[in-house]
Amino acid sequence: MYTVSDLDKDLAVLGAQGAKIFTVGYSESGRPIKGIFKGNTDGPQLLVQGAIHAREWVTAQLCVLLAERYSGECGLWCVPMSNPDGVMLAQYGLDSVGDPQRRDFLYGINGYNQDFSLWKANARAVDLNVNFNALWGTGRSNLTYPTPANYIGPYPFSERESRALAQFTDKVRPLYTVSYHARGRVIYYGFNGSDPDPEVHRIASRQTGYPAYTSEGSAGGYKDWFVLTTGRAGITVEVGNEYTPYEELQKELPSMLAQNGGLLDALSRAAGE
Ligand SMILES: [Zn+2]
Repeated sequence: MYTVSDLDKDLAVLGAQGAKIFTVGYSESGRPIKGIFKGNTDGPQLLVQGAIHAREWVTAQLCVLLAERYSGECGLWCVPMSNPDGVMLAQYGLDSVGDPQRRDFLYGINGYNQDFSLWKANARAVDLNVNFNALWGTGRSNLTYPTPANYIGPYPFSERESRALAQFTDKVRPLYTVSYHARGRVIYYGFNGSDPDPEVHRIASRQTGYPAYTSEGSAGGYKDWFVLTTGRAGITVEVGNEYTPYEELQKELPSMLAQNGGLLDALSRAAGE
């Protein structure tokens, strides 16, 4: 596993090595959503974000490893675990939930199953990556009731985690964003027919070897919101073999690193041109 406390330990090491550690906000259960900064605050900035989907917690570890390796000139703002409550739930189940009322609620939503390893949402059963204000509620897989995956929430930005990420993005004003998800070794770019900077997904595809597609039928995602509101390029990178169970994706970290290790430096070079 790669847990909240593993992340804390890694952040402490990176901090001791000179990276800046910051907090973008807090989850619905009050857990801090932490990040790593490297590079220069002047000039173009990059924002990388992972584990907004609970069961895809391997992307938090990948983001930390990528930030560690990053040596670009641009400022790199890396938020490895955007959904800490969800990650805790996917890894520890109801033991991770302090509030008895919330525990009962989540147990029911999960069909009275103790196994939360396939949970995607946060601790209010909202899928954060369909909760952003970008044609909210129009996505192909969207659901309108609390459920382990794909619930859009009662209104856009109803969740503390999605609000925190959006407000932080507004503050940093990154030129490009990269969102790490699992699985499938594929890149999605653009939103609603708009592709602000095709060079970004071309670079990403060349670096990783993953094919790049426009995201069809997607709405309310972080990348969707970023592209729509800033007119800048955001990409979603899906890592890991499509058929590997989520709990076993960690053993693919060496290949994920080999494929993604050069991406952030390459985007930094492109941003500087
Ligand atoms: Zn995902």
